[in-house]
Amino acid sequence: MSHSQAAAIFNKDEKKVNWHDKALWFVRHKRDKAAHSVTGWEALRNLGQGIKAHTLSNLDNYLIQFEENALKNGVQVHWAKNADEHNKIVHSILKAHNAKKVVKSKSMLTEECHLNPFLEADGIEVIDTDLGERIVQLAKEPPSHIVLPAIHKTKEDVDALFQEHLGTKPCAGDPQYLTGEARKHLREKFVNADAAITGVNFAIADTGGFVVCTNEGNADMGAHLAPVHIACMGIEKIIPKQEHLGVFLRLLGRSATGQHITTFSSHFRKPREGAKMHIVIVDNGRTEQLSRPDFRASLQCIRCGACMNTCPIYRRSGGHSYDATIPGPIGSILSPGKDLTKHSTLPFASTLCGSCSDVCPVKIDIHTQLYKWRQIITKEVPQPFVKKSSMKFMGTMFAKPATFEKVGKAARWSLRNLPKGVINSKPNVWGNARDLPSGPEESFDEWYKKRKKDE
Ligand code: SF4
Repeated sequence: MSHSQAAAIFNKDEKKVNWHDKALWFVRHKRDKAAHSVTGWEALRNLGQGIKAHTLSNLDNYLIQFEENALKNGVQVHWAKNADEHNKIVHSILKAHNAKKVVKSKSMLTEECHLNPFLEADGIEVIDTDLGERIVQLAKEPPSHIVLPAIHKTKEDVDALFQEHLGTKPCAGDPQYLTGEARKHLREKFVNADAAITGVNFAIADTGGFVVCTNEGNADMGAHLAPVHIACMGIEKIIPKQEHLGVFLRLLGRSATGQHITTFSSHFRKPREGAKMHIVIVDNGRTEQLSRPDFRASLQCIRCGACMNTCPIYRRSGGHSYDATIPGPIGSILSPGKDLTKHSTLPFASTLCGSCSDVCPVKIDIHTQLYKWRQIITKEVPQPFVKKSSMKFMGTMFAKPATFEKVGKAARWSLRNLPKGVINSKPNVWGNARDLPSGPEESFDEWYKKRKKDE
């Protein structure tokens, strides 16, 4: 299904779309306020961008340095070249520890690798412990946002879901009651877990340590209670030094939710006494993306979600319409690199307004990269006949001013005189979804020439 087809399904519930739009715009505003409160915010962004670009150019060295230091700290390090290897490694660690119950926190990488179904197929229970992630897990849906995984669900939706799965009482979506019940339900899972899996926000080469950022403390709860902690990270999560961490922690919290810092920024260095710690370092297509000069900067992403919150298309089409682990503007750059045909409509799900690039804390040129994918896709992926022929027609028209003038005149007349039903009819895909203004009597060109003559 193309992005626009999936978006049309989300758009059927207009009330929900408006609410989704407003909720994310509210977060975008909080981000603006938080960013403006920092003197030297732009310098901080430049610094973040510079550190990430430098790291990507020296990724091999930093990854090896990280491994050496992690091993010295008593952590076991594993390397996975793809999702299948990642899943098998995690599975083998769990098997070795006879782990049957697993709590998991904050890992889009395990979503990307489809770890849950892989483990569940062998009878291992995996519970996502972030409240939003648990909500979508109960709904049997993927997250629709990387920071706010259940942003597409209203509190009434959650109320119904909890009644069905957790046996809660109807509460008209009372958030306090619902979070209390979720806490009770998750406490039991934390206490009885045989192993904890977490993601990694930043892995530090010169110490071998890593940081996991959560607002609920669920990563800490899992990792501190279970006898085994498995941390799964993409190769791009590395930063060179401990002193660089402050730059990214300041950028991340503010860009994600407008907080000065994420509530829990937990540092892990070595296993606690009697416990085991494993790190799985995963490539899964990242080296290939690194080899594409036009798109390698997409690996600088620190997964703050700001580009999603600001994107007018994302806000009104919902995360699931992207049919990808990472939705929104940055996902539309990453996904075509994995499967160009499947994700060929994603780079077109953008107005190219550049708002995503403006808010990105590490200054990724997101809209430029989307435009570049469009050029590749139109050459390499067969396009629908209507789109191809209308673009060809537009090209010819723009190249010939006389034709442009004639077509413009006809279009303005049609907008003024044809009934609304014709303009907004089904075959006119563009006009169908838009309330168009009445066409003016004269074109800008005509108006300008007249004005010049009168001067
Ligand atoms: S691309 Fe930039 S704005 Fe988007 S999630 Fe990544 S870091 Fe945040």
